[in-house]
Amino acid sequence: MAKTNLKDMSKGELESFVHKSSLPPYRTGQLIHWIYEKYVRSIDEITEFSKDLRKRLSEKAYISNLELLKRQSSKDGTEKYLFRLEDGETIESVLIPDADRLTLCISSQAGCAMGCKFCLTGEIGLKRNLKVYEIVDQIISVTRVLSLESIVMSPREKRVTNIVFMGMGEPLENFDEVVESLWRMVEFMGISKRRITLSTAGIVPKILELAGRSPHVNLAISLNATADEVRNKLMPLNKKYPIKSLLDACRRFPLKPRRKITFEYVVLDGINDTMDDAGRLIRLLKGIRCKVNLIPFNPYEGSKFKRPSDEKVLKFQNILLAGNITALIRKSKGEDILAACGQMKAEYI
Ligand code: SAH
Ligand code: SF4
Repeated sequence: MAKTNLKDMSKGELESFVHKSSLPPYRTGQLIHWIYEKYVRSIDEITEFSKDLRKRLSEKAYISNLELLKRQSSKDGTEKYLFRLEDGETIESVLIPDADRLTLCISSQAGCAMGCKFCLTGEIGLKRNLKVYEIVDQIISVTRVLSLESIVMSPREKRVTNIVFMGMGEPLENFDEVVESLWRMVEFMGISKRRITLSTAGIVPKILELAGRSPHVNLAISLNATADEVRNKLMPLNKKYPIKSLLDACRRFPLKPRRKITFEYVVLDGINDTMDDAGRLIRLLKGIRCKVNLIPFNPYEGSKFKRPSDEKVLKFQNILLAGNITALIRKSKGEDILAACGQMKAEYI
């Protein structure tokens, strides 16, 4: 009989596994604690259990692990982790240190079906959706690496503080697994929902469904253009869900007090960076509590787009600010190791 994967189980499934194994209910909490907060890679590492119990459980269950194939460090401190999944597909996660936080950018799919023209992940196409345990295991695996390092080198312990779904894939295209992964982050791993951000290219019907079914994490929308003709060309998804329908969904999104929707805007030289664009963006976002992240295009080999000059991006930002829109320019991180937004390709290209 095939063994069951404990990392693949929801709370209810773990409870019934514990019950069927004739164990008392408190064992469920212990399993969750050891898998999600002590990052054990096998049942045998759960030293709170007797040797006998570990052996008995190992006969019918196991704990799966992502295989870390490569870890690269950028000059600016960003780190890229390449993982191999059980069936040989590969994904990437990126760790981004900042003054007061350590953000892990995770993947929700191997590849992506959306085909955005400025994104290297889009060029790969979709390999497959990730399972819940493959999504959360990116956090577990990276945290384990960091905590082992801090034992050896004993500086202040480094802990992942923020999670962003901005790696490979479109999270709302893998809806059920992503929603369950959000619950596990909040309930099993104790990550605050305010410190989790889900970014979507704009799968309109799923945006409101997300609000109803998941913990209230932050929402980011990859807008990237101010006119449908342009957005249709950049993001084929726009033909199905044009700008107006996307922004209507944002207006109806039940935002918690003091929260804002983030709009990401990849700035492409000569394509979406005119002063008219900036003016239109202000008008489009009227009435939405939001901020704009301007991301100057991160180039990669074979791409036909160019990054605009810093001056042009600053001018664009200043127009937004003058229009009372909070706008930040996101400095790209980890470009030298292809870890910046839109540069993730795992082992596919
Ligand atoms: N699929 C989701 C999440 C992953 S993409 C989404 O599209 O929102 C994360 C962000 O990277 C998106 O905002 C996207 O617009 C941006 N991005 C993609 N390619 C980029 C590139 N080459 N340079 C800069 N940003 C890019
Ligand atoms: Fe997919 Fe997001 Fe890249 Fe578009 S920008 S191809 S949705 S990962």
